[in-house]
Amino acid sequence: MKTHPLDIRQLYNNFDAPVVAFDCGQRCAAYNSSGLPFCCDICRAVPAALQPEWDYLRPNTDLWHVWRGDECESAPEDPQNLLDETPEHMLLLACLGPDRCQRQYRALSCRQFPFFPYITSDLRFLGLAYDWEFDALCWVISHLDQVTGEYRQQFIQTYDNLFAAWPAELMSYALRSQDMRECFIERRRRIPLLHRNGEAYLISPSSERMQRVSPERLPTMGYYHSTQ
Ligand code: SF4
Ligand code: SF4
Repeated sequence: MKTHPLDIRQLYNNFDAPVVAFDCGQRCAAYNSSGLPFCCDICRAVPAALQPEWDYLRPNTDLWHVWRGDECESAPEDPQNLLDETPEHMLLLACLGPDRCQRQYRALSCRQFPFFPYITSDLRFLGLAYDWEFDALCWVISHLDQVTGEYRQQFIQTYDNLFAAWPAELMSYALRSQDMRECFIERRRRIPLLHRNGEAYLISPSSERMQRVSPERLPTMGYYHSTQ
C-alpha cells in the first residue's frame, strides 16, 4: 500500500506535552533498583522507532543508536527474541539515558509511553489504553485521572494523522489491542480506556461493551496500590 511521507519533526512538535503536569519519573524511579524511571531504563524497556523516525533522528542527533542487545548486562530478554518480535518497519533503539536526554529528539515511543492507541475489533481508534506489561511499575497507569487533557488531545491528533498517512500502523495497533483483550480475558479484568471524547471507560474485553467511569475510580496496581 502506498503511504504518504511523514514529517517527523512536525509530528514531534505536535506531540510534546508531558503526560502529567509534573515529572512522573520522580514517582516511579525510587522503586527501580537502577534508580531510573522505568520507561527510560534500557534494562526494563527497549524503545522502538518507525523507520522514518530513524531516518530523521540519525543525522540530527547523537542521542540514539541502534540497539545492540548488550546495553543491559542483566537483561532477562533474549536479544534475538526481541528482534524477531519487532515489526519490519520498526527498529529497536537505545538512548544516552535520562541524564543526557534531548527532549526534542525523543522518539514517538517515549512520547506515547505508557499508552498506545486502542483499536476496536471493527477497527475504530477509540482512545488511549496503557501498556499492560508496565501496570505494576508505572505510576501514571495507577493514576490515569492525572493525565492532562492537553496530552490526551495531542495523542489523539498525532495518531489520527499517523493512521491517515500510514494505514498499516492502525493494523499494527489493532493487533496489539487484540492481544490486550485476550490478556484481560485471562485476567478477568476490564480494560481502562481514556476515550477520545474526554471521558474514561472500562471495556469488557470479550463483548467490547463500555461502561463510563470516573477516572479517579480506576484501579491502582503494583507499587502504587495502597497510595491512592
Ligand atoms: S511514564 Fe510511568 S514509568 Fe515513565 S517516568 Fe512516568 S511514571 Fe515512570
Ligand atoms: S530518549 Fe529520553 S525519554 Fe526516551 S527513553 Fe531515552 S531518556 Fe527516556
